[in-house]
Amino acid sequence: MRAVQYLSVGGGPEVVEIPTPDPGPGQIRLEVTAAGLCHSDWFVMGLPAEQYAYGLPLTLGHEGVGVVDALGAGVTGVAEGDPVAVYGPWGCGLCHACARGAENYCPRAGSLGIAPPGLGAPGALAEHLIVDDVRHLVPLGDLDPVATVSLTDAGLTPYHAIVSSLSALPAGSTAVVIGAGGLGHVGIQILRAITGATVIALDISEEKLALAKDVGAHHALPSNAEAVDAIREMTGGVGAQAVFDFVGATPTLEIARQSVALDGVVQIVGIGGGVMTTGFFATPFGASVRAPYWGMRSELMEVLDLARAGAIHVEVERYGIEQAPEAYQRLHDGAVRGRAVVVP
Ligand code: NAD
Ligand code: ZN
Ligand code: ZN
Repeated sequence: MRAVQYLSVGGGPEVVEIPTPDPGPGQIRLEVTAAGLCHSDWFVMGLPAEQYAYGLPLTLGHEGVGVVDALGAGVTGVAEGDPVAVYGPWGCGLCHACARGAENYCPRAGSLGIAPPGLGAPGALAEHLIVDDVRHLVPLGDLDPVATVSLTDAGLTPYHAIVSSLSALPAGSTAVVIGAGGLGHVGIQILRAITGATVIALDISEEKLALAKDVGAHHALPSNAEAVDAIREMTGGVGAQAVFDFVGATPTLEIARQSVALDGVVQIVGIGGGVMTTGFFATPFGASVRAPYWGMRSELMEVLDLARAGAIHVEVERYGIEQAPEAYQRLHDGAVRGRAVVVP
């Protein structure tokens, strides 16, 4: 089968031919119908050898949907032909976090060598994907695979961050979204769908600011030092009750720190490697700072329900598997509008 692999540290993604895997006991094989490209893949491919811990060769792709096409021994609950979405942050399945569906915070996954597909385990950018357990599958129903696949990360991750800030975002509140890319443009829609907040989007690209407005941001501003004054002015000096930073670089974290309201929350989603000054007088009284990771299994079901209800959608650029390296380059260059999705 064809797959998109990261073969050597410092090399880019390449399309290769590899054997089609068979599912072992308890595993499920999918025929992949769509796989999404995430900026985190570039984080992984940008790591120096001494920090790289994802194994080589790595089949990329941690956003995947497909159709069940083979069952390992003992698998029950799904049947060949079922369309499913893959819940990616695999945990041990047995601890307290996993028991409540928060496998994204499983404290045992690392020590047990359990890794998400595309981030250690073979990923979804291939004609077939092995899923380790039936609990990682969420029924897709009649949702379109290409339009839906990125909700497994670019939808789930902002949803998880927003849900944990829900009490801060009643009618009359303000939410700031920094970075209207793959995650950010879905985050804006989720904020509009499930909170009462006025949404202010910031980005460095004119096209992304236009996208932010298209998907429902009330205001879209260039992401620079003046943004802080603009946010303060728009909120009568109060600031934003929640700031979602989908970049996470030091300049954006500084904007977040300076624009969050008293008792507000900063959610650092982007893994831009930035550092934020904290300390008693560095942030407003009561403000909290959080670094959420991906999302819960039940939240993925809720995100798919929002899509079914027509409340959120993903702006998609569609590519064939041979074009995956080109699509990755566009993502790297900040040129993708919404999310790049590969149909193997
Ligand atoms: P993307 O490339 O699609 O979007 C990034 C957006 O940020 C682009 O619109 C870009 O123009 C904008 N941007 C860049 N610099 C900016 C700045 N200084 N100010 C404002 N906007 C700026 O990326 P993505 O796939 O949406 O991922 C976003 C971030 O979230 C990445 O760092 C990614 O690794 C991370 N991520 C984290 C998690 C998690 O679980 N915490 C999950 C998925 C992705
Ligand atoms: Zn991702
Ligand atoms: Zn666990």
